[in-house]
Amino acid sequence: MANIHIQILKTSRLESILNIRNVNKIYQSAGRELSVLNQINFSIDRASTVAITGPSGSGKTTLLGLCAGLDRATNGTVELNGIALEKLNEDERAAVRNQYVGFIFQNFQLLPTLTALENVMVPLELRGAKNIKARALDLLDKVGLADRSHHYPVQLSGGEQQRVSLARAFSNQPAILFADEPTGNLDAETSEKVIKLLFDLNKDAGTTLVIVTHDLELAARTSRTIKIKGGVIVSDENPGYAE
Ligand code: ADP
Repeated sequence: MANIHIQILKTSRLESILNIRNVNKIYQSAGRELSVLNQINFSIDRASTVAITGPSGSGKTTLLGLCAGLDRATNGTVELNGIALEKLNEDERAAVRNQYVGFIFQNFQLLPTLTALENVMVPLELRGAKNIKARALDLLDKVGLADRSHHYPVQLSGGEQQRVSLARAFSNQPAILFADEPTGNLDAETSEKVIKLLFDLNKDAGTTLVIVTHDLELAARTSRTIKIKGGVIVSDENPGYAE
């Protein structure tokens, strides 16, 4: 009996890749405290797709940063793939990110002094991967940019830069990929290409997607939408399941 009990606990733990419990975030700003997130609780199922929506300034980017281990919660626990991030120092959090997390920023955040290829090679180098150049080229090919591999970010359009940043985010085969307004700066056609790449990754590799977006059409394509306002969760819907 004892063994069965342990088995169930292990299984339920594995089903969710992210567990957020009683999370608060308070920024110190100009000598004042700014409470940005207040008692946030949710779990995200492995291999699911989740949109986080809400008005500007409601705390979405802050929440994504905490979930991805880019920043620390003021209180509460953030458990990513079974690892309690608040117990880790900065180097340890960077190691967890490098192992499990992909992150896509609205403004791409490519390194300007590196080519597209070199940008994609960075996470592979950090992991000590083999055949780095060939793998990075393969990733650029997947996002349709093999012929732009030696271009610098400034020589690429916004859509191309975002696709390079996707290739970079995919390169460590992340268990979970966070995207902050991934289509915010793109035209409709390029947005569609980027969205397809993201959802293909979910379908083909089972990568969990957590996407902050204002785009309600994109949100409707995910299996769940969490809406935040004023730093609290105001609704948590499953539009995909309701269809
Ligand atoms: P959203 O992504 O929903 O627009 P953010 O998480 O970016 O919201 O910001 C939530 C609030 O926190 C805003 O009032 C913003 O000005 C503030 N904020 C964000 N980052 C910082 C920071 N590093 N220091 C102080 N205040 C911040």
